[in-house]
Amino acid sequence: MGRPLRPTEAPTLETPLEELPKISSVRLAGLRRLGLVTVRDLLWHLPRRHDDQRQRATISELRLGEAATVEVEVVSLHPRRSRQRRLELVEAEVMDATGTAGVIWFNQPHLAHILHPGQRITLHGKAARRPHGGIQIRNPDMELERRSGGQSSVGVLVPTYPETAGVTSRWLRPRVRDLLPLAAAVAETLPEPVLAQEGLVPLKEALSQIHFPADHLELERARARFGFEELFYPQRAALLARQQRLARKGTRSPYDVAVARSFAQSLPFRLTDDQRRAAHEILIDLDRPSPMNRLLQGDVGSGKTVVAAMAARMAIAAGHQVVLMAPTEILARQHHETLRELLAPFQIWPRLLVGSTGARQRREILGGLAAGTDKLVVGTHALIEDEVRFPQLGLCIVDEQHRFGVAQRLRLRDKVAANPDFLSMTATPIPRSLNLTLYGDLDVSQIRGMPPGRIPVQTRMVEPGQRQGAYDFIRSEVRQGRQGFIICPLIEDSPGAEARSATAEYERLSGEVLPDLRLVLVHGRLPAREKAERMRAFAAHEFDLLVATSVIEVGVDVPNATFIGIEDAGRFGLAQLHQFRGRVGRGTHESHCLLFAGDEDPTGLARLRALIEHQDGFELAEVDLRLRGAGDAYGLRQHGFPEMRVGDLLDDGLRERARAVAERLLAADPELRDPVLRHGIQGYQVVFEFD
Ligand code: ADP
Ligand code: MG
Repeated sequence: MGRPLRPTEAPTLETPLEELPKISSVRLAGLRRLGLVTVRDLLWHLPRRHDDQRQRATISELRLGEAATVEVEVVSLHPRRSRQRRLELVEAEVMDATGTAGVIWFNQPHLAHILHPGQRITLHGKAARRPHGGIQIRNPDMELERRSGGQSSVGVLVPTYPETAGVTSRWLRPRVRDLLPLAAAVAETLPEPVLAQEGLVPLKEALSQIHFPADHLELERARARFGFEELFYPQRAALLARQQRLARKGTRSPYDVAVARSFAQSLPFRLTDDQRRAAHEILIDLDRPSPMNRLLQGDVGSGKTVVAAMAARMAIAAGHQVVLMAPTEILARQHHETLRELLAPFQIWPRLLVGSTGARQRREILGGLAAGTDKLVVGTHALIEDEVRFPQLGLCIVDEQHRFGVAQRLRLRDKVAANPDFLSMTATPIPRSLNLTLYGDLDVSQIRGMPPGRIPVQTRMVEPGQRQGAYDFIRSEVRQGRQGFIICPLIEDSPGAEARSATAEYERLSGEVLPDLRLVLVHGRLPAREKAERMRAFAAHEFDLLVATSVIEVGVDVPNATFIGIEDAGRFGLAQLHQFRGRVGRGTHESHCLLFAGDEDPTGLARLRALIEHQDGFELAEVDLRLRGAGDAYGLRQHGFPEMRVGDLLDDGLRERARAVAERLLAADPELRDPVLRHGIQGYQVVFEFD
């Protein structure tokens, strides 16, 4: 705990915010929630947007729900305390030449002392309907009429910041303004020649201007500077990581065309063109002396596992060990089963190591791996426990890597002395308009098309009045020998509640709605062994209907399942909905996805419409990107995309420019001798890098 600054002491960029005068503990807690600890952090808390308050409206021009600036005269004032919530309210009547309006401020009792009837003030805020008719401006920014010039914060481009309880934009503005002179002490983070060539504003100026721009042009130039930087750092980090990886010596599995051909010929189907291309790209990488770092991307059911099996086959043919790690036991078991079938013709027998593997078998597996006699092991994070050793590891495959924690990824890295080739698989598509290869040190192979013969899943909404019809439909599918799923609502901030809701739905369905069907319940709270057993029984058609929480999101492969009902569907994200739907349509019968509508908000509804309209995960990723913006769409953060505050991942031009600059600088100074170039290097983690 620092001591408060004395009045004569000036803060510096490094001064902790708690040492500034007059900041309450509530505000400090809020600031901490926003990640703001020092004065520097506060200056780097960039506005999300600016409101142009220079345009004046009259009271008669106010529109409900829209923000506007009005110059008015105070008619009367009524401070009071609300009875229910014990809020301090200040209500006022104001007028101009065109009419009168009400104003209400919450928790700003001091305004009652500042304001008085007859006074002229400027207000900026949103107009709402007054409870008893007319218009009310709610919680507006307020400024007294100024006698002389001075800096005004109402009636210019006013910043709005990311906020939290206790820390509003209104509170932040004057604090930031008072501290902004310190921006003069900020060191430049881009080399001078880059600023000149790219026409970018120096950091000091940009920092002041992005908070309080004189006009739109200044704001745009300041944003361009920060936007460039945000796109520049991660690309530079990625290029650096790539440079370092390519310089390392890894394991090599020569590209043996005869081995590849015999694998393809052993399959009961023909590989699709996309599968061939992806496999080819991977096999070329395996043949390189430096370690591979590649992502295999393809929609659910597009046939990634076959491609991974081919890579495993090649690495084993070269005498290496191969490990495949999956995020759940269900998935690990399925991969194990698939690989066993695909690799049996070559006398390769994969081992399965999961949490529920018995002690004796576990010892045997560990022994086989340590001795190098076992070549292929599939498992969960049980694979990264201390005693597990893979002395000849040549290829490491991780399924849905983003579902593992960073710590688990690092443990896997620590287990292996050499630099094995690394293949990560994911069903989360990256939107077309983002060029993933520009981010992270990661090569990407994509499987875009589906294996032939897939019948598109029929997706439709079930309105509240259509429920009974939907249950009748489910019953008729079951009568025809089919199976299906009901996914239960997502309940925020309580995984336990989610399990409860699935349990309640299971009881309701098996009790009253579908008592003649064989139902089984699966949720994340069950012991892994029990969960696996119930899944197995369902897959073996000992049950008709599986009621589940989102645990079945990935990896459930039951070709006989032809329907999936999703409760409260509008509350799931598009990626997850698409994953759910991918659980059906895997067999030869037409499948159905039933979206039980709840009280979704407009974007929830838009997501459901998109799901009905599009089958392709890449298309859906595009839609999601448009609905949400690049910030957190479609698991982009999971994929290691940096968070953009100002920069725009979708701005191809700016991205390319930043890339070109990063390439040029690294080429000229590969060891980063220039300290300016080192700036921000630690700030970015290239998530997929396996080193
Ligand atoms: P993913 O891992 O991408 O979800 P899988 O590899 O599990 O997909 O494949 C899904 C199903 O499609 C499996 O039953 C697999 O045998 C089958 N499959 C894969 N490739 C082909 C193909 N080229 N032709 C026909 N079926 C295929
Ligand atoms: Mg698979």
